[in-house]
Amino acid sequence: MLRLRFHGRGGQGAKVASRVLGTAAFLDGYNAQDFPLYGAERRGAPITAFTRISRDDIMERGLVSDPDIVIVMDETLLLDPQAMPLSGLKIGGIVFVNTPLSPLETKEEYGIEDHVVTLDITKVSLDMIGKPVLSSLAAGVASRIAGIGEGALKGALEKELSGIISDREILGKNTDAALHCYNALVPVQVKTAETIRERDNVITLPFEIARVSSPAINATGNTPLRKTGNWRVFRPVWNYDICTRCMTCVARCPEGCIRLNEDGYPYADYDNCKGCLVCAEECPVKAITKVREIHSRSEEGDR
Ligand code: SF4
Ligand code: SF4
Repeated sequence: MLRLRFHGRGGQGAKVASRVLGTAAFLDGYNAQDFPLYGAERRGAPITAFTRISRDDIMERGLVSDPDIVIVMDETLLLDPQAMPLSGLKIGGIVFVNTPLSPLETKEEYGIEDHVVTLDITKVSLDMIGKPVLSSLAAGVASRIAGIGEGALKGALEKELSGIISDREILGKNTDAALHCYNALVPVQVKTAETIRERDNVITLPFEIARVSSPAINATGNTPLRKTGNWRVFRPVWNYDICTRCMTCVARCPEGCIRLNEDGYPYADYDNCKGCLVCAEECPVKAITKVREIHSRSEEGDR
């Protein structure tokens, strides 16, 4: 059996990707399961989804804690202690990362020892669909790595996407982008054994009565400590030559993360700006432009 785990951000399409892969596997003659797990649902929050693929009946249920293949749809999740996408990956497993970096650069950047496959599927999506929606593209790379046939992938895209995308042109663009990603990857062999990695530290907790096992919150809220700006495809950048300091963007930002500089002009706190671009939409004089965010962690904010 092949077990896959998708890690994405709310809004990127991890659930649909696992669904398309499961259907593609089914159309290719396998048994398949697919299902998502949402945490506290919020656009940009870490999301996981799972697919099991087997020639035999699949009797296993529940989350995939020991995947053979991990699909990382947003590379910032590799540094997110809440997501931990590599946890439980089997020895000999494969990690796909959506990044402009090469596999070697990705391994060095994030200290990954496993087999890494990379492709900037966000760029493919922007170029071919015009939006950073990654569901079909992630399904394409996952199908390639899992060894699913191209015809089965095509059939699954048609079956699953036609229920959620009514515009045939957009559906066609999604299919083309998925097949582009599928064919951009060199086939790889998944070589995992039925053992999980040695450094895995999953522990089994004893059953406790609810009074004991229910979570007790003994500290003050930590939301302000949780930086939510590590997910952005685009960042807002202000043009102070035309900004009138009307404060509309400040009022409209759903994160409340636009501050004022010493001259009274707005700027984003990029640690918490999630890149929704509501500010750019709302600015009456279009003083805010969107700039593609690639490895901006090391950059200073554009203030
Ligand atoms: S893109 Fe603009 S509106 Fe959205 S979170 Fe960032 S600063 Fe706020
Ligand atoms: S909405 Fe536009 S013009 Fe108004 S303060 Fe923001 S950037 Fe400046």
